[in-house]
Amino acid sequence: MGQWTQSGQMGRLRVLRPRLAQVAARIAVLTREDLERARDASRDREQATQALYKIARSQRLRLRFLARDLYTCWLCGRIEGSCVRPVCDQVEPHRGDVARFWAGPFQTLCKSCHDGDKQRMEWWIR
Ligand SMILES: [Zn+2]
Repeated sequence: MGQWTQSGQMGRLRVLRPRLAQVAARIAVLTREDLERARDASRDREQATQALYKIARSQRLRLRFLARDLYTCWLCGRIEGSCVRPVCDQVEPHRGDVARFWAGPFQTLCKSCHDGDKQRMEWWIR
């Protein structure tokens, strides 16, 4: 029984050694630059996916709040008919903080209020 096990392991080792040599040969072909390039490509793909996800999610969020506010600007009361012009605005500036970006609160502003009055107010608050 003991002898059988030993010869079995030896047999396995004999099979394993050439395979290890094949794997080692494959690893040796990859240079450090190859690995870095592969890592960068994977990171780029991840970032692109994240960006697409954010765009889709932020568009859904924007439409939800524009509908809630009936496309009416919170500052001047103007109703923007077009889906493109009204801005779903972050009431408090998120300043690049992702958690704050999604948390809101949000308000609908017409483009001129968003680009004019709101920017000026934020400038003063800063
Ligand atoms: Zn307005």
